Amino acid sequence: MKGQKVIFLYFIVSLLMISSCRFTTKEVVKKTDSEQETKKVQVKGDLPTVAIVTTGGTIAEKRDTKTGGLVPVVSGKDLLEAIPGLDKIAKIKVIEFSDIDSSQMTPEIWSNLSKKVDEVLQDKKIKGVVVTHGTDTMAEGAYFLDLTLQSKKPVVFVGAMRGASSLSPDGPDNIYNAILQVTSPEAQHFGVTVTLNQYINSASYVRKTNTTNVQTFNSGNRGYLGYIAMGKVHKLNDRICGKKIKLPEKLAKVILIKTFAGDDGTLVKYAVDTGARGLVIEGVGAGNVNKQVYKVIEYALSKKIIVVIATRVFNGAVYPIYGDEGGGEKLQKIGAILAGDLPGPKARLLLMLGLSNGLSKKEIANYFEY
Ligand code: ASP
Repeated sequence: MKGQKVIFLYFIVSLLMISSCRFTTKEVVKKTDSEQETKKVQVKGDLPTVAIVTTGGTIAEKRDTKTGGLVPVVSGKDLLEAIPGLDKIAKIKVIEFSDIDSSQMTPEIWSNLSKKVDEVLQDKKIKGVVVTHGTDTMAEGAYFLDLTLQSKKPVVFVGAMRGASSLSPDGPDNIYNAILQVTSPEAQHFGVTVTLNQYINSASYVRKTNTTNVQTFNSGNRGYLGYIAMGKVHKLNDRICGKKIKLPEKLAKVILIKTFAGDDGTLVKYAVDTGARGLVIEGVGAGNVNKQVYKVIEYALSKKIIVVIATRVFNGAVYPIYGDEGGGEKLQKIGAILAGDLPGPKARLLLMLGLSNGLSKKEIANYFEY
């Protein structure tokens, strides 16, 4: 009887020890630089490993005291050292990919970045990747990777609107939130996101909307995927695009042109005559152009160039509404593809990837299905 009691007690004590080891929660308190807000983060058991792939941008820049301009001087390691509490939520592996302003990014560089991120994600220990990137072309870069990455693990693009030497840099808080997002069960199926200032945007719909303000990225009518507050991801919607396309060896030449009142079509004609294989034209309104531009679009189509019509307007899609020369309905009838609500720069990348993969016009049109 006594022996049975001892065994029973031993069993209860072991059970308590196992559960305390697996489910112990620590409270991590982190103050944001901007709002001195206190975050409480629940940390359980073993920490996940998150890789940070650094590419450059304001997040890694400080003011040069002699010239007054921002210059890239912050290494990946320095970036992480500026973030208190990070070691409590994840183990971090830093991979320095490049150190360039995002105005210098190209689809070729994004191709290499896509391969690098996929390679990193093959490691079973890596939960997901945070890519630090300049904000100017971040919306395009994130979309390029969203289309071409093979791994389904979370990938979060992050940057900063204020340099690392500013009075209140936004980079550290943004990186902290991005890492939190990668490790968060609610955010495993968002595809590639652009996450800044607590808002999570799908790579497909996000745009930069302000040149200097920290609240610059939003997704217009499509809305945010989530919001990060108090150390937690709050899921807001499921509008993930999830289109995938193979990463080609070489990228085709595709030109993007914004049309304007009084446009005589010179630029579109020039693009056709200088070897563009595809054209994206940002028309006015729901996807309309004037008669002169319509004529050169006819010319482009006669040369078997694929023409995609997007819009200059921030919200809403391109629709086949107007039947006059230059109207969206007429443009579609003569063979132009309508881009839905995909912004011009992203429509250009999608068309480029479609053409580079040797897809037919019909297959490319399917990718633009709205
Ligand atoms: N010029 C910067 C860039 O690399 C702007 C930024 O990162 O916020 O895009």
